[in-house]
Amino acid sequence: MITSNFFVDFTLIKDPDKIESTVNSLEIDNRRSVREALDYLSGLIRKYNNEEEYNITLGKKAFAIVMWMLRYINENGLTSRFVITQRDVFEKELHRISREANENIIFYCDSAGINAVTEGDNFKIPFDFFIKNNRKLSGFKYRLVYQKLRAGEIIVSKEQFIHLLREDFVVKIMDIYNEISPGDSQNIFRKYIDQLDLIKKEFLEIKAKSTISLGDVDFTMFPPCIKTYITQMRDGENLAHLARFTLVSFLHNAGMTNDDMIALFKTVPDFKEDLTTYQVNHITGIISGTEYSPPKCATLQSNHLCYMGDDPLCPKIKHPMQYYERKKRDSARKRDR
Ligand code: SF4
Repeated sequence: MITSNFFVDFTLIKDPDKIESTVNSLEIDNRRSVREALDYLSGLIRKYNNEEEYNITLGKKAFAIVMWMLRYINENGLTSRFVITQRDVFEKELHRISREANENIIFYCDSAGINAVTEGDNFKIPFDFFIKNNRKLSGFKYRLVYQKLRAGEIIVSKEQFIHLLREDFVVKIMDIYNEISPGDSQNIFRKYIDQLDLIKKEFLEIKAKSTISLGDVDFTMFPPCIKTYITQMRDGENLAHLARFTLVSFLHNAGMTNDDMIALFKTVPDFKEDLTTYQVNHITGIISGTEYSPPKCATLQSNHLCYMGDDPLCPKIKHPMQYYERKKRDSARKRDR
């Protein structure tokens, strides 16, 4: 049974009174949790700046306090870094506990309000849980059409389920974060405001220095999907595999150099230079001999990677490159008039 020791306590994070009494308590254990949360945020920023390692695991109370501190700081880039780092800790933790028994994953699900059961080595999960969390996952294993459906439930392997739980964790954490009132947060941390303001200032200074360079390529002409991937990267999110492929093949076709692309990917939290160089060189044809094109809009749409919103050009085109070419052509026409 692992739930009592699991590192996230959703009930605690959602309870402003408990957070306030923890933060303002004189008990050594609570004061230690506040210190742990402040040290964690400093480490997160140092890592953002110069890759310096820090302790990424947090106790339950410190985790909840960090969430509230982040709400006060209110910087999307920093919150994203936190959520993504903790998402990866969460995934590792699920793998670790499930090595003892798959039932341990079910204990977590019970505490998180997810109605799942084991079925042999697999898991039976609700249909709506699957479709809510498969959106950012690329690959046929996460497409609905390939699933075994039975009476409104889907049978998935442990690996699939852990990936879906990882996505669900991000959604849950972000939902709770968005419900926290910045005003409540400011009130709770009144004793620590100077320290939190200092952390925010340090983050903003580092962020200002780490602007993303796109070389000679014109960002204003990019379609919404490509702009979104770049913004997500700037905010520290890990892109789904297909989004990375789309971004690299798009930027290559738009004329960006491989060195500029590799520099661009350096902002991603799980950046690995060797792997990125290999992938960029593969997609651009240096290794493979094939220069890949980005996928069509229909493919991006079916993988939940289209962000057209109310863009007026998107409904008229079928391919992200077509969007870029049209924008360039229209802009050249305007210039020549
Ligand atoms: S319609 Fe196409 S170009 Fe526009 S955002 Fe969607 S995938 Fe990108």
